[in-house]
Amino acid sequence: MPALPDGADGRLALALVGTIAHDGEGGVADHFAEDHQVDAWLAEHFPGLAPRRHDEAERLRALRFAARSAFAAAVAPHPASRVERQRRMSDREAGELLTAALAALDAKPAFTIGEHGVRWESATAATGQTLVEGTLALAVTDFLTGPLAPRLRSCQAPRCVRYFVQDHGRQQWCKASCGNRARAARFAERHR
Ligand SMILES: [Zn+2]
Repeated sequence: MPALPDGADGRLALALVGTIAHDGEGGVADHFAEDHQVDAWLAEHFPGLAPRRHDEAERLRALRFAARSAFAAAVAPHPASRVERQRRMSDREAGELLTAALAALDAKPAFTIGEHGVRWESATAATGQTLVEGTLALAVTDFLTGPLAPRLRSCQAPRCVRYFVQDHGRQQWCKASCGNRARAARFAERHR
């Protein structure tokens, strides 16, 4: 049975929630808007997977909604991204959706001893949609309950809708260009 990846580094979870991004004009771009976009994203993260049916793509959109809602809950008391401040799944519904995806994996624990030392892994016989949903839910779970979670923030720069992991405690913006935009907006505000 293949071992499931450890999602504690946040890469897969952040990639999933990052499929909602700002469009550069004050709006929001949904990189899962069309089914073929969902397939393009999956091809990067799950090579060899056949294209999703429409209902399967819809399930992945729902899982992403649950994931972003969980991110919004995880950053509290810091503010959520403006996307989740406008609309967010209830904590209970998001928890249930992620739990169902994890449960469907039916993962078996494996204690392994090897050249990298002692590890705890879980393995699954799941394939296709069940494997994709479960792996994504596990990535969100590993990350939001892992060592990087206390440094998770949402970027509050104008237009930005990203979540990011702080490099240092005072980092407010996901990247330098967001900081520049935020400072320019404050300057304009003061001089109005
Ligand atoms: Zn930003």
